Amino acid sequence: MDQVLLITGASRGIGAATALQAARRGWAVAVNYTSNSLAADEVVRAIRAGGGTAITVQADVGDEAQVLAMFAKVDAKLGRLTGLVNNAGVVDMQARVDEMSVARLERMLRINVIGSIVCAREAVRRMSTRHGGSGGAIVNLSSAAARLGSPGQYVDYAASKGAIDTFTVGLAKEVADEGIRVNAVRPGLIDTEIHASGGLPDRAFQLASTVPMKRTGSADEVANGIVWLLSAEAGYVTGTVLDVTGGR
Ligand code: NAP
Repeated sequence: MDQVLLITGASRGIGAATALQAARRGWAVAVNYTSNSLAADEVVRAIRAGGGTAITVQADVGDEAQVLAMFAKVDAKLGRLTGLVNNAGVVDMQARVDEMSVARLERMLRINVIGSIVCAREAVRRMSTRHGGSGGAIVNLSSAAARLGSPGQYVDYAASKGAIDTFTVGLAKEVADEGIRVNAVRPGLIDTEIHASGGLPDRAFQLASTVPMKRTGSADEVANGIVWLLSAEAGYVTGTVLDVTGGR
């Protein structure tokens, strides 16, 4: 395949919407998930029904051995990677910093930060002209929380996304002359299941009135930005963080 894309956390939400849009643009898509195989299978089924190419790849991005096995499966089944969306990410229960355990912080940073950096490392090893690759594009999922800080809710999550912003700028400069573009998207309040996983299923709707556009965003609206950053249309765009926040 010419265009091979791995999307972490693509069984649901923003990752699933990105997988469906990217497949329509001609990418062969590896749909990563960690536990919800039925949802990942459904994304692959929908892509194949539309004439596209897709496979599922199970891995916890916070576990290096599983990440290595995931990339090896993509190599074998789809060929050399040319795109990566570092989308898998977690929140945790609402808490103040003075209540946070080290176990919570380690999980948050391991999945959101180390997972994204290790996946990017594996992608660079395949895409970089320095390693015999033919280039590619990486898009990291940050959050408006990186700017807002999420006080009283999950400052640790916000800090993990601040790390993603900085990582995006640094890696972009490091590999800019090796054929790889690296950008990030900062979603605002998007209607997905992530809020329920933090114990606040109605969070996005409850905060919608604080958004200048007075509404939540959809996973598809975020995916629009991601697939554009992956595309040749964004050929001179690197090191950029794109806000998709309704003005928040
Ligand atoms: P979501 O609906 O909760 O979906 C999370 C996805 O990530 C699922 O596919 C899940 O797989 C996967 N996942 C979770 N932990 C994983 C791990 N350790 N390894 C591999 N995959 C894992 O999330 P979302 O709302 O679409 O968010 C996607 C990204 O956007 C995240 O990075 C999030 O921080 C960011 N974001 C979201 C919002 C928002 O309002 N929704 C706002 C700002 C930023 P399973 O199905 O197997 O569980």
